Amino acid sequence: MSLFSSEKLEQFLPKVKTILEENLYPLEPKYLHLPFSKVEPELAKVRALVKEKGLWNSHLSESHGGLGFSLVEFGQISELLGTSPYGHYCFNCNAPDIGNQELLLGNASDYIKETYLKPLIQGTTRSCFSMTEPDFAGSNPVNMGSTAVRDGDEYVINGTKWFTTAAEGASFAIVMANTNPEAENRYQQASMIIVPTDTKGFHLTRNISIMGETNDTYFSHAEIEYKNCRVPVKNLVGNEGEGFLLAQQRLGPGRIHHCMRWIGICEKAFDLMCRRAATRSLGGDTKLGDKQTIQNWIAESRAEINASRYMVLHTAQKIDEVGAKAARLEISTIKFYVANVLMNVLDRAVQVHGALGITDDTVLSFYYRHERGARIYDGPDEVHKSALARQILKGYGLNAKR
Ligand SMILES: Cc1cc2nc3c(=O)[nH]c(=O)nc-3n(C[C@H](O)[C@H](O)[C@H](O)COP(=O)(O)OP(=O)(O)OC[C@H]3O[C@@H](n4cnc5c(N)ncnc54)[C@H](O)[C@@H]3O)c2cc1C
Repeated sequence: MSLFSSEKLEQFLPKVKTILEENLYPLEPKYLHLPFSKVEPELAKVRALVKEKGLWNSHLSESHGGLGFSLVEFGQISELLGTSPYGHYCFNCNAPDIGNQELLLGNASDYIKETYLKPLIQGTTRSCFSMTEPDFAGSNPVNMGSTAVRDGDEYVINGTKWFTTAAEGASFAIVMANTNPEAENRYQQASMIIVPTDTKGFHLTRNISIMGETNDTYFSHAEIEYKNCRVPVKNLVGNEGEGFLLAQQRLGPGRIHHCMRWIGICEKAFDLMCRRAATRSLGGDTKLGDKQTIQNWIAESRAEINASRYMVLHTAQKIDEVGAKAARLEISTIKFYVANVLMNVLDRAVQVHGALGITDDTVLSFYYRHERGARIYDGPDEVHKSALARQILKGYGLNAKR
């Protein structure tokens, strides 16, 4: 048994693998380049099967209707699920729902938990997270134009958001908006408020067309206009002015979830690369894998993926033991490191496949297009590198500027 494994996990992983192999990988060639809405009926059947087999909500504790795995264990489940673009969705641990579930579990009122969280955990609804705005740099979201003004028992929300992932078909958005512009500390000016998507004044203006996505339903990245959108004050998550505190709580674990999934994608690409290298003939009895350049790519990829896995599980272990706040720098480190390993491995795998690599005959081209965003969302590389380097330099007596 490996360093980070457990008997419970060893028994669980083969069950996940069977569903991936029998029910999800076979759907990919037919559906991956079609709108997500086309595959949804097929995935609904797989979600039902996952529930029936008792594999649902592996990310949650038993008291919250989950299976009670630690983050270290879930990391390895998530890696396996990452080998199919449909894996996390079918096991109900897909972004942004997983982050929203964790946020609401830790901070929401009983009313919000009953009304919004419960159906999310049961998988009967989807959600989205609406923070980034077109007119302000998302890397430093403290600069934000959206407002939520209190009027009696309601908030009136105005503003424009974009890149609200999975907004189309979601039943509610968790919206960041300024409620306390008078607060001296800029990090205490915004709050998180739940806005049902059927609220008057919620306008999904467009699904932004981005590379690698079919841009609908769960794969949508929406621009949304909130125009005099009225919601009850009881839809506030946590307290007024806590928006950024909660965002940090949500994004920390959210970032590690991405890293776990990316390692699964790396393993998938690595496997395809090795299969191709071992079988593609260059003439006579020479195979691609006989060439040293290809061997270098295989060796470098193996080392980088192993290093990534170790770093991610070590970070997960720290979060399990002392919480995400104390693991902030480890999370920043893996966020940029693993995103770049992902780019390297995918690029090498595409190259080894030659022209085939850029067709839709393998899953590689989907991942290559789809995952470029990894170096940007939830904080671009540069922001995480800077956070890490500034902390290191503190140890050398330099209080480096932001
Ligand atoms: C696929 C995808 C899904 C997303 N989903 C969501 C979502 O569901 N909800 C949501 O609210 N947002 C979402 N986002 C938005 C995302 O969080 C932002 O794109 C991200 O925070 C960067 O903000 P920006 O795009 O405004 O880039 P900017 O802030 O304009 O930055 C542009 C570039 O400048 C550089 N840069 C920025 N700051 C620094 C710095 N301090 N030092 C050096 N260089 C720097 C970086 O290279 C960066 O890429 C998503 C984005 C993508 C791509």
